[in-house]
Amino acid sequence: MSQNPTGRLEGRVAIVTGGSRGIGRAIVERLAAEGARVAFTYNSSPGPAAEIAEALGSDRALAIQCDVANPEQVAAMVEKVLTAWGKIHILVNNAGITKDTLMLRMSIEDFESVIRTNLTGTFVATKAVLRPMMGERWGRIINIASVVGLVGNPGQANYVASKAGVIGMTKAVAREVASRNILANCIAPGYIQTDMTAKLNEAQQTELSAQIPLKRIGQAADIAALVAFLASDDAGYITGQTFAVDGGMTMV
Ligand code: NDP
Repeated sequence: MSQNPTGRLEGRVAIVTGGSRGIGRAIVERLAAEGARVAFTYNSSPGPAAEIAEALGSDRALAIQCDVANPEQVAAMVEKVLTAWGKIHILVNNAGITKDTLMLRMSIEDFESVIRTNLTGTFVATKAVLRPMMGERWGRIINIASVVGLVGNPGQANYVASKAGVIGMTKAVAREVASRNILANCIAPGYIQTDMTAKLNEAQQTELSAQIPLKRIGQAADIAALVAFLASDDAGYITGQTFAVDGGMTMV
C-alpha cells in the first residue's frame, strides 16, 4: 500500500466526520493530498478546523460544525457539501468519543451518549449520503471502528458495544447497496497516538508497545493510508470487511 499520495482520488468529493484532530485530521489531509475535495466536520474545535481548511485551501477543503449525534445538523452538513460541490463519493465515519468506566459504575447516560455519537452518528451520516452516492453510481463508506469492537475491553462496555455495532452495521449496509456500486468497509485501529489515547503515561505506553508485535504505537497516518486505498478504485472488489490496523496486536 502506498504511503505516498498518488492523486488517485482526483475528482472525488469526500466527507470526513471528526476531522479537526487525531485520526480524522490525518484522513482529511491524506484524502486531499490524493486529489479529493474534502468536507470535514468538527464539534467543539473551531480553531484547529479553520487552520486545516486554510492550509488546504478553499477549493480543496471545507470545515463544517456538526454534532454527528444530531440528525438535523448532519442533514444540514450534507446539504452544505452538495451546495458547494454538487456530489458526494466518499464518507468516512470517524467521529467518536469514549466515556470509560467499569460497567458496575457506568450510568445509562454515559452508555447512551457514546452509542449516540459513535453508532447512531454513523447510521445518520451514512443514511444521509446514500442517495447522493446512488446518483453518482459510485460510493465508498469507510467506518472507523476499533479492535476493541472485535475483542472487547474492560471499562469500555459503551464504547465496545458502539464499535461492534458499527462493524455489524457496515456489513448490513454493504449488502444493501452493493448493487449500486457503493462499497462499505470498516477499519479497526489498535492503539493510535492521539488526544484520545494521550491519557496513558510513558511507562504505560512502553508496556503497551512491548505487547504489540510491531513494537510501536500506531500513528494516525497509518490509518489514513488504508482509508485512501479503500476510497480508491483499487479497492473496487472489497466490501463488508473489517481491517485491523494495530501492529499485529489482535490477529483475529
Ligand atoms: P480524538 O479524540 O483525537 O478526535 C475525535 C474527533 O471526533 C475530533 O475531531 C472531534 O471533534 C470529533 N468529534 C467528537 N465528538 C463528535 C461529535 N459528536 N460530532 C462530530 N465530531 C465529533 O479521537 P481519535 O482521533 O483518537 O479517534 C478517531 C476515531 O478513531 C474514533 O472513532 C475512535 O473511536 C477511533 N479509534 C481511535 C483509536 C485510538 O487509539 N486513538 C483506537 C481505535 C479507534 P472536536 O475536536 O471538534 O470535538
